[in-house]
Amino acid sequence: MAEFDYDVLVIGAGPGGYVAAIRAAQLGLKTACAEGRETLGGTCLNVGCIPSKAMLHASEYYDAAANGTMESMGVEVKPKLNLDKMHGQRRDAVKQLTGGIEFLFKKNKVDWLKGYATFKDAHSVEVAGKTVTAKNIVIATGSSVTPLPGVEIDEKIIVSSTGALELEKVPEHMVVIGGGVIGLELGSVWRRLGAKVTCVEFLDQILPGMDDDIRKEAHKIFKKQGIDFKLSTKVTAVEVKGKKATLTMEPAKGGDSETLEADCVLVAIGRRPNTEGLGLEAIGLEVNKRGQIETDHDFRTKVDGVWAIGDVVPGPMLAHKAEDEGIAVAENIAGLTGIVNHDIIPGVVYTFPEIAGVGLTEAEAKEKYGEVKVGKFPMLANSRAKTNHEPDGSVKIIADAKTDRVVGVWCIAVPAGTMIAQAAQAMEFGATSEDIAYTCHAHPTHSEAIKEAAMAVQGKPIHI
Ligand SMILES: Cc1cc2nc3c(=O)[nH]c(=O)nc-3n(C[C@H](O)[C@H](O)[C@H](O)COP(=O)(O)OP(=O)(O)OC[C@H]3O[C@@H](n4cnc5c(N)ncnc54)[C@H](O)[C@@H]3O)c2cc1C
Repeated sequence: MAEFDYDVLVIGAGPGGYVAAIRAAQLGLKTACAEGRETLGGTCLNVGCIPSKAMLHASEYYDAAANGTMESMGVEVKPKLNLDKMHGQRRDAVKQLTGGIEFLFKKNKVDWLKGYATFKDAHSVEVAGKTVTAKNIVIATGSSVTPLPGVEIDEKIIVSSTGALELEKVPEHMVVIGGGVIGLELGSVWRRLGAKVTCVEFLDQILPGMDDDIRKEAHKIFKKQGIDFKLSTKVTAVEVKGKKATLTMEPAKGGDSETLEADCVLVAIGRRPNTEGLGLEAIGLEVNKRGQIETDHDFRTKVDGVWAIGDVVPGPMLAHKAEDEGIAVAENIAGLTGIVNHDIIPGVVYTFPEIAGVGLTEAEAKEKYGEVKVGKFPMLANSRAKTNHEPDGSVKIIADAKTDRVVGVWCIAVPAGTMIAQAAQAMEFGATSEDIAYTCHAHPTHSEAIKEAAMAVQGKPIHI
């Protein structure tokens, strides 16, 4: 009898876990994946990336019809919202994609262990009352919503991102607590469908972690679209009476408090790693101050045979980062060399226009390299964006002044999330701004703005 039931047991079937399990099986390892949810795909497919994009995409069509964009192009329609149907297509997308992972598990012979797993020791876990052993165990338990102390989420009036995807009617006034990616994406959905949206942010600017110019420009664009912002403001309490919530807020640096009424409050202040109930104490594994599991470069924890990836480990909480770590950890377990370059992980906000970045902000680049060269190009001067009535946004490229090597690319453009892939690839290949400037880009495309911004680093853009 084999010493272990499996070569690899992955805990959690989000984009980190399911990808790790599939790659481990592809590499000939006997693999199982434990998942407590009813469906595979984790946060991303069930309540995150996919359903939010389904609502963003559908609401974008509604908004284009309602706000005059379509009319300005000669398409005259009067939109009528069928919210049930919009939710239906969201649920359908989720069903198809989570079912797709089930198919991939079967195809690759990954056993799905249904239930939440708890460590008994470093090589065994209990799932649904059964003990399962494995030579290697990968923790990919992801993250869940960070609660706001004193504010109880009821998923009706005070909602998390999960509840905000499911609202049965368009709120009159939605207050979003937190001006990060999730708050702005879901705030945008309901603003487009007719809600008044106010975003309350503790910091003095939205989108923490992004380049300062991009943050300022994004703020202006969202304001123009009708979202109200209360920056440098702290929510101290939310009280629900009947169908209304009253928020009490005060300036972040102290001062007089004020109140705001809403019929929906979205708490979007971040996410925290899932380690509760995992039984880490049984294997002597501790979490850091932020509740994350620390690993080395190969995704090994300090316990032999136990590995960790995705939202539960440090780094940006993003699905593609989790997926890449999933591939790398499986390859490392199989004795290959699995690497993730954490310096080049693109981040995207899927609003209209999209906001994307990869690498360092200008401030970070200055700190790291001393002197930097910056090239900027406005989308207003990009022929495709202008023709499509999409003038908002810009591209910013930051290069090390000594070597011209590109160290950061930031853009706001309708397809910024797609455009940023070329920047990430160029940076992986160690490209200079000159390399990008002399790469032929198809015309007319939004991506030409990246070429022009690279030419601007050289001081010679053509179209501005
Ligand atoms: C509204 C929203 C929108 C988002 N949009 C994007 C986006 O557009 N792009 C992007 O890159 N990222 C996005 N994210 C973030 C993305 O969803 C996460 O970064 C990603 O899902 C992390 O993957 P993961 O595999 O680490 O964990 P998760 O996807 O969280 O999956 C972990 C899984 O583990 C399971 N689990 C936990 N504990 C146990 C246990 N003990 N036993 C068995 N199973 C367990 C959970 O049930 C869960 O299914 C979004 C998140 C939200 C909430």
